[in-house]
Amino acid sequence: MKALSGGSTQNDPAVLAGAILTIDLDALRANYRQLRQRLGAVRCAAVVKADAYGLGAATIGSVLAEEGCDTFFVAHAAEGLALRQALGREPQIYVLNGILPGAEMACATAGLATVVNSLEQLAAWRATAGVLGLSLPAALQVDSGMSRLGMEPQEVEQLAADKSLLEGIDVRLVMSHLACADEPEHPANVAQKEAFDLLRAQLPAAPASLANSSGIFLGADYHYDLARPGAAIYGINPTPGRPNPMRPVVHLAAKVIQTRQLPASVGVGYGHAFHTQKPLRAATISLGYADGWHRRAAAGAYFGDVRLPFIGRVSMDSIIIDISALPEGALTAGDLVEIIGPHQPVDVVAGHAGTIGYEVLTDLGRRFHRIYNKA
Ligand SMILES: *Cc1c(COP(=O)(O)O)cnc(C)c1O
Repeated sequence: MKALSGGSTQNDPAVLAGAILTIDLDALRANYRQLRQRLGAVRCAAVVKADAYGLGAATIGSVLAEEGCDTFFVAHAAEGLALRQALGREPQIYVLNGILPGAEMACATAGLATVVNSLEQLAAWRATAGVLGLSLPAALQVDSGMSRLGMEPQEVEQLAADKSLLEGIDVRLVMSHLACADEPEHPANVAQKEAFDLLRAQLPAAPASLANSSGIFLGADYHYDLARPGAAIYGINPTPGRPNPMRPVVHLAAKVIQTRQLPASVGVGYGHAFHTQKPLRAATISLGYADGWHRRAAAGAYFGDVRLPFIGRVSMDSIIIDISALPEGALTAGDLVEIIGPHQPVDVVAGHAGTIGYEVLTDLGRRFHRIYNKA
């Protein structure tokens, strides 16, 4: 990639930024459509928690709403309120963590639906409904075996025994979450599905939801009435170890700051963690751990198809790369090298960092110039 041409006015953010993050909205739409197609008649919500995995919940949510998505999940009440502002009154917005004490009235007023994770959360939502004299929307989440969020079997029994506990609650969904959906052969998947079926049989009849992105790929048995993908919409591989069926959404390119010739036997970067064996040409690029690039992610950059390995340690604001594989003068200040893209997708970057694509995306820094590309 060459430097962005034109537009080099004084305040052009693309010129001022050290790196450019491009979010491909066409790929995003295509991914959502693909999931919907796999789901057939089953409804497809979108999980846009953590600012849509770092990509911008307001923009992503609007684009998915245009695609016909009418149900969104966020993690926190504040995320729900912000998304309501961005998307207007229409879509259903669920708060996955449930609404924490004190936040009920603001959320109810904004038309958010809570995910009820405990009888305690249920009581607070019921009380809010009572104060408002309204019936308030909720998903009942049961813990089918992940031990993270949701009502335990004893709580479900209590609910079944005492219908008054659901007074003023408009139960829109009964849901649970899979712990091992990205491992299709894991016995926990079948066990959780069976536990989910037993638990929801005790609850009022309502649409059911179990599958996240990977859960969709476990097959129709796991689809129920509504799926809740996040990662796959953003291009993360929902089928680890197999080819990624999704289109890449995120592209990151960093600018070259300067290039230099290095003789043999010099130390490179902090701690001299790298020493040149022979003379090489190096470039310093404008990306560092302050941009959410993991310090131990020893990856490479790409220029065209040529891989340019990182050498030395990742600094806060810069990384040194070996550009000897390129013809002399091929890279100059301001040129862009690919950091996340077709040669090095999000999941590969995650592998270099010893983490998962989810964390790579949610860590993406705030200094990038962001382009929402509608190609
Ligand atoms: C985050 C989350 C999802 C989305 O999971 P992906 O793996 O990103 O598709 C769905 N449901 C719940 C309860 C979640 O917390």
